[in-house]
Amino acid sequence: MAVHRYNFPTEIHFGPGARKLLPAKLKEFGIRRALLVSDKGVAGQPFFDELLRLSGAAAVYAELSGNPVESHVHAALEAWRDAACDGIVALGGGAAIDVAKAVAVLAGHKGCLFAYAEGVPGQKPVSGPVPPVVALPTTAGTGSEVGRSAVISEDGSHVKRIVFSPKLMPRAALLDPELTVGLPPGVTAATGMDAVTHLVESYITAGDYNPLCDGVALEGLRLAARSLKRCVAKPRDLAARGDMMNAALMGAAAFQKGLGATHSCAHALSTVCDMHHGLANGIMIDFVMAFNKPVCREKFKVMAQVVGAKELVGWLTGLKRSLGIPRGLAKAGVRKEHLPRLVDVAVADPCHQLNPRPVRRKDFEALFSKALRA
Ligand SMILES: [Zn+2]
Repeated sequence: MAVHRYNFPTEIHFGPGARKLLPAKLKEFGIRRALLVSDKGVAGQPFFDELLRLSGAAAVYAELSGNPVESHVHAALEAWRDAACDGIVALGGGAAIDVAKAVAVLAGHKGCLFAYAEGVPGQKPVSGPVPPVVALPTTAGTGSEVGRSAVISEDGSHVKRIVFSPKLMPRAALLDPELTVGLPPGVTAATGMDAVTHLVESYITAGDYNPLCDGVALEGLRLAARSLKRCVAKPRDLAARGDMMNAALMGAAAFQKGLGATHSCAHALSTVCDMHHGLANGIMIDFVMAFNKPVCREKFKVMAQVVGAKELVGWLTGLKRSLGIPRGLAKAGVRKEHLPRLVDVAVADPCHQLNPRPVRRKDFEALFSKALRA
């Protein structure tokens, strides 16, 4: 398999061994003192030392685990400043890539990170210089390697904040399926379901007319349908891993159109129960799509055709089952007493504003209750 290059929506190099282009890319972008941002899980992988060498990192921050919070960003920023770094290599899943982007913002901007977050009173623009980020994803899920935002939570409340700017788009993404073969089946399944959710929600979203995104979403869904189960069953299948890396980046490229209520539920589950984002989407997606079905019949037909199924919602439920994703929320540790707060956070989340069927408070109550009983 060769390494392919395509420039959409940023510079992408895809194929087994793409990681080996890192030194050349760093040189091209003028990065001489890189900060390597990674997470604890990745730091224990056999390829970590190789990437450390390839990046020639002047500093390393690899203390991430779970959902990224503001204090992670500050600790990584300290490493950046101590070593006088001039660019960032993000090696990991969405958490590492998002922290890398947030450090890049604070490297050239004064004050607190959340002063630059969407929707905060007196929001400041990301108007200053932002150092280059080169992303090497080790999961196939968020697609943050081709995204223009960083999602970071507040330390105390775990409320998610989004810092958005076109300047946050990584300068290049090196998509090397060999970096994902060591991913445990549970993480492969959960991150893969995040990608599937991006593809499905962006295709049906009430956001702007965008036939480019629609085309990308459908092809991404076809790749995910072909390969996600295979990645879980045969972790070393590079072709399947490669399909999922592309499906993930296509999901992120498509969702500039908007997302929907599954993501509002997932954001609430991460905030209230600290649940993994992909797992939360994976559990909620078929409940939300059953709710959406009456207003999306035509689009559901098209998607069913693309994935080779009779009907979309049933296909999603079957996919969950075959990936080992719990059918409902109880198995993932959610209890009845969490419900009121879950509903509050979901209602306040902006994603459902673009859900094709309006979602009111009582609808979120019904969705969470159903998922809890399942
Ligand atoms: Zn997502």
